[in-house]
Amino acid sequence: ALPMHLVARVAPLSSKLVLVLVDDRTRERRVEAIRRDFVANVSHELKTPIGAMNLLAEAVAEAKDDPGAVERFAGRIQIESERLNRLVQQIIELSRLQADELVDEPVDVDIAELVDSAIERSRTDAEAKQISLRGRTDGDLHVLGEPDQILAAVSNLVENAVAYSPEGSRVAVVAAAKDSRVQITVTDRGIGIPQAEIERIFERFYRVDPARARTTGGTGLGLSIVKHVAASHGGEVKVWSEPGQGSSFSICLPRHETASESEAYVGNET
Ligand code: ADP
Repeated sequence: ALPMHLVARVAPLSSKLVLVLVDDRTRERRVEAIRRDFVANVSHELKTPIGAMNLLAEAVAEAKDDPGAVERFAGRIQIESERLNRLVQQIIELSRLQADELVDEPVDVDIAELVDSAIERSRTDAEAKQISLRGRTDGDLHVLGEPDQILAAVSNLVENAVAYSPEGSRVAVVAAAKDSRVQITVTDRGIGIPQAEIERIFERFYRVDPARARTTGGTGLGLSIVKHVAASHGGEVKVWSEPGQGSSFSICLPRHETASESEAYVGNET
């Protein structure tokens, strides 16, 4: 008898020879378990804001003679629906990444433009907390890939940096060449992450402090998207963090030499 995870197929080749093929199903089973987990988590995560909106709608109906209360409840319904919207968007993004559907042909991505766009996306949130949000790109840096995905990844890091930083602090985004790679680093002086949790923050739906993440509108999916995008572009993510001091997240991606740069290089050689 074979262990459960091994599946054997037997094919007689001749009267003396038998071919036995043994398949290891361990990986398949693990993938299946992860998928089941994901579906269970998704259902739970979707039910939370839907349930909240339901209760708030009832509260609005009951408070109809109290305009102040109606306004408050309506505001909270809006927050919950924004959260739901964000969650659905991230789930779609993540399943697309997991299906390895690089639908679009990789194109040249200008890192300076990308850093600017990522910062632009968080500008309002940063201003609301009087956080100084600055970006810098050292040199003419390019990578090859899906611009939307890379922007989503860098934006997630910037959003987190702003979300987990106190009012009036600073967030810096710096892109620089490192060996044959481009490293984009987002540094904050926020709450930081305990050492024991760092391994887990890239897991889907994982939050260090759910109560706190809740008030920042976090979904727990941002970093798993970042990790997937880096991996599917042949790169990686690095983290440094110290509770109470701040955090620094880097995405490293293979550098793409643009035509003009390679020509310049050849020119220098001759
Ligand atoms: P979320 O949507 O909750 O931010 P993420 O996957 O982006 O989800 O991050 C997972 C968890 O990692 C967060 O809930 C938070 O606890 C922690 N985290 C991520 N970025 C930072 C940061 N810059 N500073 C402190 N904690 C962070």
